[in-house]
Amino acid sequence: CLANQKAYSSLNAFITPLQHSGLWWECLRDADHRRETGKSRSLLDGRLIAIKDNICTKSLPTTCASGILHGFFSPFNATVVETLENAGAVVAGKTNLDEFGMGSHSTYSRSGPVKNSRWDRDEPLSAGGSSGGSAVAVATNQCYAALGTDTGGSVRLPAAYTGTVGFKPSYGRISRWGVVAYANSLDTVGILGRKTSVIRNVFDILNQHDDRDPTSLSPRSRSRIASYFASPSLSSRLASRPLRVGVPIEYNIAELAPSVRHVWLNALAHLEEQGHTIHPVSLPATKLALPAYYVLAPAEASSNLAKYDGVRYGTRAEGNDSGDGPDGYLYAKTRGQGFGAEVKRRILLGAFSLSAGAMDNYFIQAQKVRHLVQADFDAVFDAQNPLLPASSSQEGRKKTSTVDVLIAPTAPSMPPRLSLLMDKTNSLLSLDAYLNDVFTVPASLAGLPAVSIPVCGTGAISGQRESDIEVSEVDPVGLQIIGQFGDDELVLKVGEMLE
Ligand code: GLN
Repeated sequence: CLANQKAYSSLNAFITPLQHSGLWWECLRDADHRRETGKSRSLLDGRLIAIKDNICTKSLPTTCASGILHGFFSPFNATVVETLENAGAVVAGKTNLDEFGMGSHSTYSRSGPVKNSRWDRDEPLSAGGSSGGSAVAVATNQCYAALGTDTGGSVRLPAAYTGTVGFKPSYGRISRWGVVAYANSLDTVGILGRKTSVIRNVFDILNQHDDRDPTSLSPRSRSRIASYFASPSLSSRLASRPLRVGVPIEYNIAELAPSVRHVWLNALAHLEEQGHTIHPVSLPATKLALPAYYVLAPAEASSNLAKYDGVRYGTRAEGNDSGDGPDGYLYAKTRGQGFGAEVKRRILLGAFSLSAGAMDNYFIQAQKVRHLVQADFDAVFDAQNPLLPASSSQEGRKKTSTVDVLIAPTAPSMPPRLSLLMDKTNSLLSLDAYLNDVFTVPASLAGLPAVSIPVCGTGAISGQRESDIEVSEVDPVGLQIIGQFGDDELVLKVGEMLE
């Protein structure tokens, strides 16, 4: 891992690589000693885990890839960092991201864009965002696993673009304490690894209640969810009847790249061969999810980012706060210089949609759409949403053909070339980038567990001529498995079936 951090430094996966921290080698030596004496603390003992740079660490700076937090050191570790270190894991450095997690290609970073050279093309591709640094670090073996954050797809999209596994657990499973907030009601900590088994090892350690995070699932909810999904146990559940796999028809959009559609169909055929059954299902609110997300997330962001005023955190612009003369307006100058263009766009958009005149037309409408998206999912899953009261029966919606999991592409296309995205003359690019999240935001709005798995295309499907599709045996496509709230275990299990 350490050799790879040097070898791949030009990919810009890390904002602060391991070399910058002094104590790591002692930690690794101690872990070696524990292993030799049979006293390993956990499966993660002595493992290098990279941490996205919007998760607080005491020993390394936490910049969120923003000028406004340049050189900021947190006085505490996030709960996830503390928990990993207690399990013997070693922080492998802080990874690059879109500023404050806002973006889909890891290009909006003060430290420069992350480069994805996984398929050794002539020029680098997008690493996906915003956890692109974590994904590239994992893909190029610069660490054992990495933590990212997923608000609207920021772990799953980079996983799909880099050929790694990216898991967003149910909302509230992993503590957010010490994770810099982007949009609290959507933010989750996610895990990236080269295999689902690695994700499981990290998730087993992090999946616990944290008193310090008010949105962390309580021990009572956890045991209720566990008894609901674990009786009968997952293995007897799978042994007793085939899996009912749902295919959301709204995800089969005209813009879907033929190679992505091909791999999707292949994976469904593969599951069918194993005896599972495939069922088309409809999630009618899907096309409203993306615009709703881009109202709600910036609204929360505009409120969260108000605290970066140059007085309490990070960098401060030169000048006075009187508002007089060329040096006036400390607050506006600090924010004007500290934030990048995309973050400013989101703050303006969010402040507008929360303003008295626009609130009813945008924010309130988007909240209603969020409920519709949640109700869509609840109507197609066989398992009831454990967060709803037992009697609610999905708000009176009739369940027809229900399923255990949904399988769909993670993104509509393969990663674009980085040079195309960096073209500053094209002002429509940022809007285009929003469209990449079309398949990931619905699960975020509903707080559902979802994993992106790299799946390779193998041969043509009956009825399709091989020459019609750019089938590639080497370029894996990210497929997403979405489950009912709390059914994280099943989602990972199905991920393993497709690996
Ligand atoms: N691309 C989405 C956005 O820019 C998702 C980001 C994320 O999940 N952090 O908001």
